[in-house]
Amino acid sequence: MTKVDNLTNILRHAAENGYAAGSFSARYTKLILPIIQAAVNTNSPVIVQLSEKEIIRHKVSAEAFAKEFYRVVEELQPKVPVVLHLDHTKTLETIQAAMDAGFTSVMIDASEKNFDDNVAVTKQVVEMAHRRNITVEAELGKIGTTDFVETDHDEEMYTIPEEAKMFCAQTDVDCLAVSVGTAHGVYTVRQPNIDFKRLEEINKLTPTPLVLHGGSGVPSEMVVKAAALPTGGVSKVNIATDLELEMLAVVGRSGHMTEEELNTYSDDIIEKAREAVRLLVEDKIRHYLGSSNKA
Ligand SMILES: [Zn+2]
Repeated sequence: MTKVDNLTNILRHAAENGYAAGSFSARYTKLILPIIQAAVNTNSPVIVQLSEKEIIRHKVSAEAFAKEFYRVVEELQPKVPVVLHLDHTKTLETIQAAMDAGFTSVMIDASEKNFDDNVAVTKQVVEMAHRRNITVEAELGKIGTTDFVETDHDEEMYTIPEEAKMFCAQTDVDCLAVSVGTAHGVYTVRQPNIDFKRLEEINKLTPTPLVLHGGSGVPSEMVVKAAALPTGGVSKVNIATDLELEMLAVVGRSGHMTEEELNTYSDDIIEKAREAVRLLVEDKIRHYLGSSNKA
């Protein structure tokens, strides 16, 4: 039976079994299919995501994205758990629209605010979402960026374990994105690093599953280790940039494009791009997240 789920069971299972579920940014509706195909082929749970910035940049609505997600689910009838997740979002209107469109999980990113304001807005989203059995991810600390795609700030502020404990208890979030050394985008300047001690400290203080952002370009052994920490480690890893780069290489472009622009390419090229993305996602599932055969 096809199971479109929220994050609860998937992240609990991942934490208990030493792997991480991949949260893949499709960015274009045409790339939803290969992500779910890859999960089916590897018998892995999978999260398909779209952020508020991507909605604006690629000119794709949450509704159109959800429509294609559910079309693919209908077509493939996957037996693996699949989640439709709204990545980094700041405005409640976008969160509301995504929930109405059928997203089963949402992220409120109020990490730029001070602790109390972050708690207040996150709590508000948790109340809206939990009524509808939708899970919520929040962020505490600041995750830097190398390309300003997912976030605007390139300021890094590591998550403080004691604050994470208070934040999770006060907001009742389902998972927490932590800043432990990774950055969004591709690492051309800075070298990625993961502060494992800090992850363990946070795990010890709160049972809330943790999320690692900035998964593109981090060496696989670092991610495998972060997911397998005996304290639980990270249970969800966001992989954003790599997929789009793979697609752009196939179509022969170097920059971003809109949803509409991608749709002007021939079926043949789209097919090749999808194939490349499917292989990349399968590789990430097998060698990076360790989530194959964990569905
Ligand atoms: Zn992120």
